[in-house]
Amino acid sequence: MLRTVITAAVGLTLATGCAPDSEAPVKVSVLSRSSNGQYVPTQVELTTIEDIVGLKGTVGDLQGGARIVIDPNDPALQNATEDTVADVLLKKSGHDVKASYITQKDEKTGEDVLWPADFHSWNMVTSYYNLERANEYFRTVANVKVASFDPTPTLYYFPEFIQTQVSKEPAEDNAIFYPVLQAFLVLPFDQIQRAPLPLNSAVMAHEYSHLVFNRLAYATQNLPVALSLWAAESPSPGANVLKAFDEGLADYHAYGASCRSPSGCDPRFLAPSFDGGPFTGVTDARDLSNGNRCMSALLYTRVYQQDLGTFSSDGAEYQVGTLLASALYQAGRSTGQEAQLQRDIVSAYYDTNPSTPGIYQYTQQVLGDQSLFTLAVPARAIISHITDLELRKAVCNEFMDHLQIPRADLIGDNLCPASAAGGTTCPSIFQ
Ligand SMILES: [Zn+2]
Repeated sequence: MLRTVITAAVGLTLATGCAPDSEAPVKVSVLSRSSNGQYVPTQVELTTIEDIVGLKGTVGDLQGGARIVIDPNDPALQNATEDTVADVLLKKSGHDVKASYITQKDEKTGEDVLWPADFHSWNMVTSYYNLERANEYFRTVANVKVASFDPTPTLYYFPEFIQTQVSKEPAEDNAIFYPVLQAFLVLPFDQIQRAPLPLNSAVMAHEYSHLVFNRLAYATQNLPVALSLWAAESPSPGANVLKAFDEGLADYHAYGASCRSPSGCDPRFLAPSFDGGPFTGVTDARDLSNGNRCMSALLYTRVYQQDLGTFSSDGAEYQVGTLLASALYQAGRSTGQEAQLQRDIVSAYYDTNPSTPGIYQYTQQVLGDQSLFTLAVPARAIISHITDLELRKAVCNEFMDHLQIPRADLIGDNLCPASAAGGTTCPSIFQ
């Protein structure tokens, strides 16, 4: 409560002081990828901003100086409830950021344009802009209702983020959506120098996709019940499947959002951040346009026989997720219906109609027995929400082929047509 009061007071001071006019729309320069692939200062209009200095608006609220510690041995964490867990993890809640600008006149229009005055101001205002772009993708292409974005997520900018199980040192070089805090974390960078993650609009769209998945497929639960219940068991096939879908769909939507940028659809959207550095291999590993990926017998077995910790220890959720994302990519491209597919997928996250349950509804049906939450289950949710029959059949064939989901699990009313027979790219792992 105290925190809310202090934050409000600071915001008021800035608005009445020497701060630039904060009312949206605000014309400002951000770093954005141009049509030739370079990150260059680009004049844009922020349409959702309420405080251009504190970088707060309806799509996000930037906070600096936070300290977040995840220590499984912290007794306070063991006693925490869903209502108190955020306060336990948030050792310092941080403060409003303060971006600096120089006002310039646009040569053509004579209008004022704000020009960020230092590196962090560039980085922060671009982060906000990228949240706004991702939000617009999900509202317009994916048809997500405005109410689903409430409450406004916080974006912790350069927080100290410590996971004691991983390291005593604060983590770097990552952008994270953290559902417990309903917040994004943009960590300081060390190795990633080329295009810092918050500047990469597709990376921010990937994280934003996790927010949307949480708000719909997990019904905005800070500690998603299905995931945490299932992750506590061993093996944890249901938790593994949920994680894999969450990651794969995040990559697919990041790709979808890239199609609305000046540089166009980019199935290798990690390249500007990762190529040429220590993470170079990641771009190829998650390249959506690689149509030759196949579920292996080993990976398939791991989904069903490992606990989430073991499954995730080498990023297997990303391996399965990439199979899913590239299958969707192929189906959308081959039918020329990518935007429709992106919209259909999000409509499959939450649906109370008993004949076409959403992913959330399916998790609730089998909460007591996660062995029933196979790869086929969220696949069925997606398939039943694809209205165009040609597109639906294409997705069915890709799922049977690249993800090796058994055909018998996907055929049925509101599901795959009997004519869906799979594909010919991948050898069957069920011999
Ligand atoms: Zn992710």
